[in-house]
Amino acid sequence: MKFIFVTGGVMSGIGKGITAASVGRLLKSYGISVTSIKIDPYVNVDAGTMSPYQHGEVWVTEDGGEIDLDLGHYERFLDQSIPKDHNITTGQIYQTVIGKERRGEYLGQTVQIIPHITNEIKRRFKAVAEHTKADVVIIEIGGTVGDIESEPFLEAARQVRGDEGVSNTLFIHVTLVPISKTKEQKTKPSQHSVAKLRELGIQPDVIVPRCSEVLMPDARSKIALFCNVPEEGVISGYDVDLIYRIPLIYHEEGLGDFIAKRLGLKVKKREMGEWKKIVEQFEKTDKEVTVAMAGKYVEMEDSYLSLNEALRHAGAHFGARVNIKFVGTEAFEENPEEVGSLDEVDGILVPGGFGERGSRGKILTIQYARENDIPYLGLCFGFQLAVVEYARNVAGLEKANSSEIDANTPHPVVDLLPTLRGVKDMGGTMRLGAQPIKIKAGTKAFDIYNHQEVILERHRHRYEVNPRYIPTLKDNGLVFSGAAPDGRVEIIELDEHPFFMATQFHPEFKSRPGKPSPIIRAFVEAAISRRYGAQ
Ligand code: GLN
Repeated sequence: MKFIFVTGGVMSGIGKGITAASVGRLLKSYGISVTSIKIDPYVNVDAGTMSPYQHGEVWVTEDGGEIDLDLGHYERFLDQSIPKDHNITTGQIYQTVIGKERRGEYLGQTVQIIPHITNEIKRRFKAVAEHTKADVVIIEIGGTVGDIESEPFLEAARQVRGDEGVSNTLFIHVTLVPISKTKEQKTKPSQHSVAKLRELGIQPDVIVPRCSEVLMPDARSKIALFCNVPEEGVISGYDVDLIYRIPLIYHEEGLGDFIAKRLGLKVKKREMGEWKKIVEQFEKTDKEVTVAMAGKYVEMEDSYLSLNEALRHAGAHFGARVNIKFVGTEAFEENPEEVGSLDEVDGILVPGGFGERGSRGKILTIQYARENDIPYLGLCFGFQLAVVEYARNVAGLEKANSSEIDANTPHPVVDLLPTLRGVKDMGGTMRLGAQPIKIKAGTKAFDIYNHQEVILERHRHRYEVNPRYIPTLKDNGLVFSGAAPDGRVEIIELDEHPFFMATQFHPEFKSRPGKPSPIIRAFVEAAISRRYGAQ
């Protein structure tokens, strides 16, 4: 068992997730098998009940976990599915330990943070190492060194070094190097944060100082000297405009060889060629399109992180840069004529969402896209609202709505899933994770998914298209092109429109650089056609 721990200092949001994911991609490109774990020191059991304003989007795993968005980075960089037990929170650890205590499994003992909590943490690390059989497990410890919340996890990591030995554990510490008014790269915050880590008994092996520019040689020497790491262990983490380039930078900095030597890993190849090809796709763009994203959480860009990435993956496939214009739809509710400003965009997207706020504006947005032949993609909430819009404005069901927005609507065309009636718990109770979808032959969706009859896509919802209204909507021209095995509606589309499609599922979670989601790729292609004419 070999473990790499990634910790962070100085401030939060410093890029530990991308660092961990990039180290993973680097080792994988060297022929070393890897997997990742994300630790979130908060007390929530998972991220499912949190607003995107807290930590950005809620990531959904294939097996239905609702997790911190860093797991999405790991999947995109590693091109492998990471299941929900690779996310560990304080809430989960205490839930397990308290459960055991109540069952009498610690009978006679005082249950304490050390060793009971730390043992449960270590048990989970080792379980992942055992069941994945990965050569290396990369563990990112969320939060910042010095936080009270992350201390038990750092203590567990310290103990793992004792249990498994120095040659089987490596610590990477990500810090910040600010630039002073006199244009100097300042290393003191890094020194202090490493000192803090040492107080907890952990000496890092690698330091990744994040800086807006490439690290200068004297800053590197200073960090090496004061933080007690070799110079090859100081890796310049400068800002880049394309995150997927970072594994290539680490490769050039020699981080792969450094880690392999330190952990005694067999490097089977030192081939970054495949990854380089993917990165080049993003860099060689000769087209540009703008997509309007009409969401509720537009002030926080990370709210739609996977979708932003998925649009970029799709754009890169066509050599196009995709600009995302976030539009708050509440403004349209006050001034409906403002929706006409959308005429200048090449595509309109209504992503997932919850609740009434902004929903009227979203419906106006969808109507505008439908009536003006602007490519439209609706995902989850954007799918449900497309059905509401169609019911109202085409099928003549004037007061149609989703019962999530109006519990007393005479036409609940979108309604609570029957299995969720009476369910009071909010955590982990939605329809979650990958579910099969049968695609109808002869539809646009069938072509987009390359004539696959059944696909697997990820879900996160409580409401669905009410089956009672399917015949009426069908008679009025709405095409139902994909369904769950039990008949639940999964995809809708329109015949007489350049591109009007919506899905109950979230295709963005399966998009990866070099392998864009089929339906998002088709949407971007339609946006390119609107701007440049059919290609
Ligand atoms: N609020 C809707 C539902 O619960 C849509 C959820 C979503 O967009 N993820 O079904």
